[in-house]
Amino acid sequence: MAKKRNERDSSTVYCSFCGEPADGTRVMVPSPFDDKAYICSDCVDHLHTAIKEYYGDVSTTAGAAGQDKDAALSLDGIPKPKEICAFLDQYVIGQDSAKRYLSVSVYNHYKRLAQNNDDVDIEKSNIIMVGPTGTGKTLLAKTIARMLDVPFTIVDATVLTEAGYVGEDIESLLTRLLQAADYDVEKAQRGIVFIDEIDKIARKGDNPSITRDVSGEGVQQGLLKLLEGSVVNVPPQGGRKHPEQRMIAVDTKNILFICGGAFDGIERKIAQRLNSHVVGYSNSARKGVDRNNFLQYVAPQDLKSFGLIPEIIGRLPILTHLEPLDRDALRRVLTEPKNAIVKQYEKLFSMDNVKLVFTPGALDMIVDKAIEYKLGARGLRSIVETVMMDAMFDIPSQNVEEFVVSDSYVLQQLKKANFEVNKL
Ligand code: ADP
Repeated sequence: MAKKRNERDSSTVYCSFCGEPADGTRVMVPSPFDDKAYICSDCVDHLHTAIKEYYGDVSTTAGAAGQDKDAALSLDGIPKPKEICAFLDQYVIGQDSAKRYLSVSVYNHYKRLAQNNDDVDIEKSNIIMVGPTGTGKTLLAKTIARMLDVPFTIVDATVLTEAGYVGEDIESLLTRLLQAADYDVEKAQRGIVFIDEIDKIARKGDNPSITRDVSGEGVQQGLLKLLEGSVVNVPPQGGRKHPEQRMIAVDTKNILFICGGAFDGIERKIAQRLNSHVVGYSNSARKGVDRNNFLQYVAPQDLKSFGLIPEIIGRLPILTHLEPLDRDALRRVLTEPKNAIVKQYEKLFSMDNVKLVFTPGALDMIVDKAIEYKLGARGLRSIVETVMMDAMFDIPSQNVEEFVVSDSYVLQQLKKANFEVNKL
């Protein structure tokens, strides 16, 4: 029986259309936008009949449209790996190896979506990027998303850690993808998920002792289900699964997962492996190893030594690394990308009709300070921000045409703001 709002039992779900409560025969479909709104299956049936009477048999046209969506994607207009890489070059400095791997994997992802299902099945190539923090992993993923017309979301694996043992909440990362796709399940099923800080869910070491810390392993197991491709019930609003909340079934078969992590200390494991391999061989094998950058030799077994379970590693077949950014790269980060920090400040000042000039010495000084305080690329912005604060406060009220930032001005402003004290 339909009940008035004030007579309703708070533990039961009611259809927002007809007011009937959920029961054994009536299925409630939740609104993706309002967790208190539902429509029951009876109302859906009635509406369907009413629409059919009014517009004719819409089910056939809707069906055709549905089939269109399922049909293989055309490769026409899909950027080729070189084009994807050229686009990445506009925003990301260096990291050539990661760019190549990403470009090829994303292109192959499209090929997978375009394949006819009857012949050879192209397997999904999920990606894992290993590299120090602040070297552009997230930036690469974001830039890829910017150029592609697929839903994209970034999730932090550390959030999953907390909920890992509870079990269900790992699926909520698909909630984010659904939201990015405006709850179009078909679209979400072809999306890209970037899982950041994947190293934080590693087992603590590859220690065979029975007392080892297995935290994170549960989350890895949960993630495995998603990576390998299965139909997952996703809570439309995220959060915990609610007994009466209807789930949306999402097939992860065609979702591309890109994982990133700093894997602090993995160099030691790589070095150990390389050293043990060259034992007994001539020194020349050892000579070929660049000891300043072990990360370039990263291999799946190093991820295992770090604490990722073999099944997860197997589901992330494309492994690539990012280089630490040296002085030259940091200098380029300041000025070269399409939305480089310096360009952004020049734009801000130009809006007040002021020409902003950073002298080469000032740029060098900013880079020096980022290196000195071990802040990396992420620190460049906070340094420039600190340096420019006074000027941004004063200049708009002054009648000047040009403002020059020199190395001594950089030093003076950093000192004035106690930047050294604050950052150390
Ligand atoms: P992480 O590797 O930790 O994911 P991010 O991609 O978040 O690092 O980088 C932090 C910021 O540093 C970026 O927003 C960007 O401004 C800058 N940055 C880092 N690496 C690069 C790079 N290779 N090219 C251009 N900017 C970069």
